[in-house]
Amino acid sequence: ATMYDALRELSAVKQEDDVKPSKDGCVVYWSRNKDLRLDDNTALSYASAVAQDLHLPLVVLHIFSLGDYKSHDRSPRRIDFQLRQLAYLQKELAKLDIPLFTITHEGNRKEVPALVCDKLDEWRATGLYANIEYEVDELRRDTEILERTKKARETGKGWQGQVELMRDFCIVAPGQVLTKQGKPYSVYSPYQRSWLAEINSHLADYMHKQNGPVVANASSVRDHAVLGPMFAHEIPTSLAGFELEGGDDEAARMRKLWPVGEGVVDGIMRRFLRTKMQPAKFFEAPLESEGNEVDDPKKKSKIGEYCEGRNRVDWDGTSHISPYLAAGLISPRECIRQAFKLAGGKELPGGRDTGIGMWVQEIAWRDFYQAVLVAWPRVCMSRPYNLKYDGTVDWAEDAGGEKLKAWKEGRTGFPIVDAAMRSLKEQGYMHNRCRMIVASFLSKDLLIDWREGEKFFMQSLIDGDLGSNNGGWQWSASTGCDPQPYFRIFNPASQSEKVDPEGEYIRHWVPELRKLKGKTIHDPAAKLTKKQILDMGYVMPIVDHAKARTTAIEKYKEAAARA
Ligand code: FAD
Repeated sequence: ATMYDALRELSAVKQEDDVKPSKDGCVVYWSRNKDLRLDDNTALSYASAVAQDLHLPLVVLHIFSLGDYKSHDRSPRRIDFQLRQLAYLQKELAKLDIPLFTITHEGNRKEVPALVCDKLDEWRATGLYANIEYEVDELRRDTEILERTKKARETGKGWQGQVELMRDFCIVAPGQVLTKQGKPYSVYSPYQRSWLAEINSHLADYMHKQNGPVVANASSVRDHAVLGPMFAHEIPTSLAGFELEGGDDEAARMRKLWPVGEGVVDGIMRRFLRTKMQPAKFFEAPLESEGNEVDDPKKKSKIGEYCEGRNRVDWDGTSHISPYLAAGLISPRECIRQAFKLAGGKELPGGRDTGIGMWVQEIAWRDFYQAVLVAWPRVCMSRPYNLKYDGTVDWAEDAGGEKLKAWKEGRTGFPIVDAAMRSLKEQGYMHNRCRMIVASFLSKDLLIDWREGEKFFMQSLIDGDLGSNNGGWQWSASTGCDPQPYFRIFNPASQSEKVDPEGEYIRHWVPELRKLKGKTIHDPAAKLTKKQILDMGYVMPIVDHAKARTTAIEKYKEAAARA
């Protein structure tokens, strides 16, 4: 049994009869790092309805758990994004007379259950409602809260209210679709087919927004002795230990690239669903769309042309919704509802033959990787899905960490790798094709343990999400569920020609190479002398790809033989 099973068992215990709403109590929605929105939010909508029923005020609680952020390598960019969105939500909630209160907690997860229960006791809360986070530490934390309240009811000591944990982060929750043998899927294609069949066989339910809007509190909450002062509570603008490295410049850049607030997610979706692809204008500003609307969005918009667009890093061909999905500014259900509406058919498309279907498949990957976390929680604990490679791959010696450093800084001498790594540094984002290329390069060409890359991505990405990031890294390192076979190793130069044929992406991110013409830009060392390369201010390749490829295949074979 996994931690998720334990949590579900405990939360299945009927608690309502034990809960006595007190006249001066409240109902609490615990907002988490991944559900930062008011619209179509399962636990929030439910908590709001309960508060109405009981004639009690609704309070929103958010906890910054600094110890956990550290141990989970949470990026300062993702935290800055979270803080900006919370400040916006606080204003929106205040219009409904609902306070949003934050607690900054220095310790780790283990102390959170006591902290939360004590707070709820102090506020005389009758119920706590939250959306489930599927990572193992978070499941443990929530299980402890359920155990603690169960014990409190038995002993009559401590907070004894109702706790409900709800499924919200995925469209099809982990465990909801299983193989014919009743097991979790470890291969994506059959998973995706079942996922799509599940949605299409309950289409009306999935396409109808089940979660009602948040209902306003009575304005008298503002005079409440305990809750009233919460309205003066301010959301911090940064958290100690998670300041943006690049200071104000970086803050301004992040705000421009990844805005929050009124209408932002609608704008990003509209831009993807209704406007045309912009060749050679790869990602610069997600909301710029004026004048680019198309008459036939089903075919001619970015989503319409997604089958080709998604493979070109020099085009602006993907949605850029990932940070908003990762932090929950938009619900994944809303994404597929919009796709379904645009497709205009009787079923949600999910095949590879249309842009819309292809995009829906990508959204299914997100659910797939959450289901993997739940079924094989070891992947949350730095272990490979495929136990054949658990501690057995003989990763290369990297004296002084020089190669890892060159990779992180975009100085490997492989232009597409360097361009991608520099885009990550600048934008907190990287195109999916590039994520695959740089991950393959780190784990196969440099033979550096993929966990180093996984960690660096989490520390740098604005859309960092354990499930998708770990899934992507283990796919690339061939240690994961349904991975890239270990002998299929990306050749950076030929990948570069495919994804950036004219070299525009490279020219943008690696200005040293701006003057190079033709194919030379993909592999300067094949055509130019060392002197010519160094004179341009660029670097020589830090590894010989052909040799590295042979070595990697040998090492993976040896690891499999040892297991
Ligand atoms: P679109 O192409 O518009 O796709 C729409 C949405 O589908 C994405 O926003 C995302 O939520 C989901 N999606 C797309 N591809 C994948 C995928 N392969 N796996 C899971 N979900 C997917 N995605 C993250 O959200 N967070 C991560 O930390 C993350 N780390 C990754 C690490 C590696 C090594 C790799 C190979 C992929 C990683 N991805 C991650 C998946 C993918 O690269 C991004 O979701 C995508 O680039 C985001 O851009 P977009 O929103 O324009 O995507």
